[in-house]
Amino acid sequence: MLAERFRKLRGLAWRVMDGIFENMWDYKYVPIEIIARDSGVEEHKAEKVLKTLSNEKLIELKQTEYLGAAFTFLGLSLYSLNRFVRKNIVTMLGEKMGEGKESMVYNCISKWGEAVLKFHKVGYTSFKRVREKRDYGDLHYTVLMIRSAKNEFNALKKLHSKVSVPKPYGWEGNAVLMELIDAKELYKVRLENPKEVLDYIIEEVREMWKLGIVHGDLSQFNILVNPEGIWFIDFPQAIDLNEIETDEELRMAEEILRRDLTNLISYFRKTYRVEVDADRIVEEILKS
Ligand code: ADP
Repeated sequence: MLAERFRKLRGLAWRVMDGIFENMWDYKYVPIEIIARDSGVEEHKAEKVLKTLSNEKLIELKQTEYLGAAFTFLGLSLYSLNRFVRKNIVTMLGEKMGEGKESMVYNCISKWGEAVLKFHKVGYTSFKRVREKRDYGDLHYTVLMIRSAKNEFNALKKLHSKVSVPKPYGWEGNAVLMELIDAKELYKVRLENPKEVLDYIIEEVREMWKLGIVHGDLSQFNILVNPEGIWFIDFPQAIDLNEIETDEELRMAEEILRRDLTNLISYFRKTYRVEVDADRIVEEILKS
């Protein structure tokens, strides 16, 4: 479906979308005048293209004192895919691997071979983003999708050489390109050595903390397992401890670490009757 819609778009449509992309941080709905100016497409032509894209639900048009345009999730995803394609980083889009409330995940062929392309659908309001909103005013929700993708990419970059996460290959718009892991979600498998796996997970979470990252949504759904090992995925909500500015933010990060570990430990307790003392582990990690 995405590949088909992608093939239908022509040069003029991509240029008009460039005009929206370049200005979406400054305008919730980018004025058509600005789109025309930055894309080099005459205003009356740009308007025609925008109307077509709006009929196809790839952008949203809004008439206030001026006519303005913003992406939809689908429009931004196609545009982000095109940024990878025109840089020759992604050469073919494959099957949809999954779609949930928070993302749409495809496999694809990339410069590095088979890979995963994850399109972010939501923006999280971490404290960093709350600050940002205060500083920059009202942003369109698609800007927040881009922030989520950037946040996931940055966390993977910081972690991948030391922690078991997919290798991050690239970030464009709301899309993150990463290594394909051939494994199943933890909740779908029956482990033979649950205690050993839980101990390993705890060590990896400690390593993440040392590298300055808290996952923020750790659970049996965001850990992949196969006979060779385990991988952590899904980092849009990750907290970067280097960006923390106040004691209150640090306390929030510690609470989120506690919640991540408590969730996982209680999954292992309920599923495998493995008992470990969550509070003691959290305290130990905080000290490390
Ligand atoms: P969401 O927040 O939308 O759940 P995830 O990052 O958890 O997004 O991805 C959704 C699903 O896509 C995962 O449960 C997993 O099955 C698959 N997936 C995501 N990233 C990868 C990857 N790098 N390799 C293999 N499968 C992946």
